[in-house]
Amino acid sequence: MKDFSEKLLAWYDQHGRKDLPWQHAINPYRVWVSEIMLQQTQVKTVIPYYQKFMASFPDIQSLANAKQDAVLKHWSGLGYYARARNMHKAARMVCDDFAGIFPKDLEQMQLLPGIGRSTAAAILSISGNQKQAILDGNVKRVISRVFMIEGWSGRSETLKEMWSLVEELVPDQRNADYTQAIMDLGATVCTRSKPQCENCPFQSDCLAYQQNVIEHFPAKKPKKKLPERYAVMLIIQDHHKAVFMQKRPPVGIWGSLWCFPQFDDEMLAQEWLREYFLLKAKGLLEKSKKQEQLIHTFSHFRLTIQPIIINLPLSSDLKTPLNKRVMETDDSLWYNINSEFSGGLASPVQTLLNKLK
Ligand code: SF4
Repeated sequence: MKDFSEKLLAWYDQHGRKDLPWQHAINPYRVWVSEIMLQQTQVKTVIPYYQKFMASFPDIQSLANAKQDAVLKHWSGLGYYARARNMHKAARMVCDDFAGIFPKDLEQMQLLPGIGRSTAAAILSISGNQKQAILDGNVKRVISRVFMIEGWSGRSETLKEMWSLVEELVPDQRNADYTQAIMDLGATVCTRSKPQCENCPFQSDCLAYQQNVIEHFPAKKPKKKLPERYAVMLIIQDHHKAVFMQKRPPVGIWGSLWCFPQFDDEMLAQEWLREYFLLKAKGLLEKSKKQEQLIHTFSHFRLTIQPIIINLPLSSDLKTPLNKRVMETDDSLWYNINSEFSGGLASPVQTLLNKLK
């Protein structure tokens, strides 16, 4: 279609969003933060997070200088925490290796952690009006419908076909507006369910619309049942209403976030309690309160969490005073549930803490 970009830009001039927080004072840093937050997350969810983040880390230097816990705290609730850890690493790389200035080259930009081809292109296009093509979820949806592209975009042949198409469509002029426009169209008109075809600039060109098969595009990922896993979380409370928290290892699920002690089963939890808290022979699990199970779905498995509240006896009931045995370290602490927590929390942990409060 020859006039794809003209039609899209004409629509954008009239209907595009031009007042989002990251559309002001545009620079690569602000665009980058918005692009990362918007991955897998809707605009209305992102806006308050973005504003808080920018208030605390207004530029790349302030982000690079921040502690990882402070960055993760700003991400608490947004999910996909690897995004935040990668941003923090990338900020340090930009400051250390690129003198604090984002690279202007597509390949170099992709050397930064968490920045793939489409995100790099979006940053260069929106902040520098470079002629670059993007291919995020919104764009995939629009083009797969307009051009009826068969096949799931996770297949390498389909992805290749999509990339070559978006590269052909990209205009020589007004690239920043074009990039914004195609994302907007996917987010506001050509939506996942109930697209508003009557308001779409491509209504007369869109093959899926013309053939009344929109619901078949984009092709869905072939279904595979997610593996199930189980975990026990111990909510250990002392008589001052402080709970015991541990920091997760930096890699793996909820990397570097704070969680309750977590185990694969109750026997392991029991052993740890004996070992760590030096409890008398009869552990506390028998007297503990099992809470309602929580289910948390990750992209690659479903986790059933069994929370168990353990109310610790006064230290005189224990073989060793607690405060001698369970010291606060970089990776563990007692948190008073009525105060503000200063690190990032995994979302089920946040849910459980809210219930405790
Ligand atoms: S006509 Fe409908 S399905 Fe086709 S691109 Fe427009 S909104 Fe999407």
